Amino acid sequence: MVVHITYHCNNEILEWQWASDNDLMPYPYFTSCYLVDGLLIDTGAPGGENDLKKFVNSLNSNQMIDKCFITHTHEDHAGGASMLNTEFGIPIYASEKAVDLLKKGNIYPKYRQMVWGQKLLPARAIVIDKPIITKSKKYKFRLFPMKGHAPELVALIEKDQQWVFVADAVQPKYKMIFGKNSDIQEDISLIYQSLSKLYEFTENMNDLLIFSAGNGILQGREILIKKMEEIENLHIKTHEYHRKLLKEGYSGKKLIRKIIKNLFGKESIIGQLTQGDLSRENLIVSLLKWEKKGI
Ligand SMILES: [Zn+2]
Repeated sequence: MVVHITYHCNNEILEWQWASDNDLMPYPYFTSCYLVDGLLIDTGAPGGENDLKKFVNSLNSNQMIDKCFITHTHEDHAGGASMLNTEFGIPIYASEKAVDLLKKGNIYPKYRQMVWGQKLLPARAIVIDKPIITKSKKYKFRLFPMKGHAPELVALIEKDQQWVFVADAVQPKYKMIFGKNSDIQEDISLIYQSLSKLYEFTENMNDLLIFSAGNGILQGREILIKKMEEIENLHIKTHEYHRKLLKEGYSGKKLIRKIIKNLFGKESIIGQLTQGDLSRENLIVSLLKWEKKGI
């Protein structure tokens, strides 16, 4: 297992990163949780439970976690929730939808078990719908729903500090998404709407820092515009190809495959490894479901 601890913003934010070092993986996939004045944002993956326990035991009384917020219920974010609650008595907060999902736990496919550990244990969490004030009352985090990656995903925003904790709501590149038969159903139009909503909300935050779960810290809200442009571009091109290929007589699977070929060359290897759960095909299908005015 690989654990990295990094401090940000004059040591006000501690980032705890975890990755499994499974030999079968070409490189480690990291997930991050952040500790800010006693508030832990997300809890890593089930496979990191013991490492998280060691980390909590290593904290001094000033640093100690007094509450935890789960952004969304994917196993790489909610993996330590049950343990933190039962072994340390730390209250777990989440959105109403997330609380219901956390209650159930989750069993997921083998390829995700390899990366994140065996299964997500059920966890008891409390619904929160008002801002979170941290331990020493230094920080106030607003809840900011960002659907698209997961319907229950809620980001946290500290307006005065210009910090946004987005978990997986902002990705480095939109080349494939979850869908098909997976329990994770991403929706590219909702991802776009959430990015746009965040861009509007952060107006005048010229020093915005966007803390992601696996892709580091993104600086500046222009990133959000770039992401939106990237998706808009894919959206327009997909619909253009779709219209052209329909005229040429393409339909069904062949049509989707041809759009993938035109846009990306071919389906990604991950698409094959995940049996289509995470694929370019899902991205194209989602882009086509999202109607384009004037095309
Ligand atoms: Zn996720």
